[in-house]
Amino acid sequence: MNDNIFLFSVDVESDFTDKNRDLTENVIKILEIFDIFSVRATFFIVAEIWKEKKGLLQEISKKHEIACHSMTHPDSKKEFDENIIREALQSKHILEDIVQNEIKGFRSPFLNSHHNDEKLMSFLYDCGFKYHSSCLKSIFLRKEYNIFDFNNEKFVEFYSDRLLILPFPLSSLYLRIFYPFNFLKRASNIIIHPHDYLSGIPTVSKWLTHPCGWWTSPLRFLFERNVDKGFILLKNYIGSLNKTFLSYNDVVDLLFKK
Ligand SMILES: [Zn+2]
Repeated sequence: MNDNIFLFSVDVESDFTDKNRDLTENVIKILEIFDIFSVRATFFIVAEIWKEKKGLLQEISKKHEIACHSMTHPDSKKEFDENIIREALQSKHILEDIVQNEIKGFRSPFLNSHHNDEKLMSFLYDCGFKYHSSCLKSIFLRKEYNIFDFNNEKFVEFYSDRLLILPFPLSSLYLRIFYPFNFLKRASNIIIHPHDYLSGIPTVSKWLTHPCGWWTSPLRFLFERNVDKGFILLKNYIGSLNKTFLSYNDVVDLLFKK
């Protein structure tokens, strides 16, 4: 992949402290920032939670890619194993119906394929997906993707790293701290969430028990009084990169052309 290409993705799910909290405003703020820098991003949508926001999803799809992030974002391993393929297919159909376009990408909840990665990929291929981005690697990751063959057709697996999934504004701090690592491995895959930018400190039980609690809770504690600061940091960070931002699907198209 060209050195100047960056992948930016937004995992659009619910807030883990309050599933009913409306995050529309945060999605719109992220879209406005992307507009300033002509970022083309991929929005991985949890379909059950966002299917009522048809207008917003259609608006996103005008400039960005819409992809699947399951139906309900199951957070236990058992739930995941039992449901993930059904959820992948169901969410694909719902989102395709809303945006009137083929959905090609899938990302597992919590970026976890849990069991046999190859098995998950062949299921996704059978469902009509062209790529997935469900694998977390270490901060030393150097490889960004792998191309697999299923029935002589290509399927791409994208890798994310543990470092760049950290939320803003914390991630921009971490990026500076770990810059030599980024430099070595040419990190180019950033993931954010609309719920990274919220006030309200979660209860201790949520903090300790939810898979997202450990990083989101300190963030909210730090920015309780100034949520907008997170958006300003996001804007400054994207501005400082000076890269070309493509969606996953754009990159898949480039890889398939080779
Ligand atoms: Zn998620």
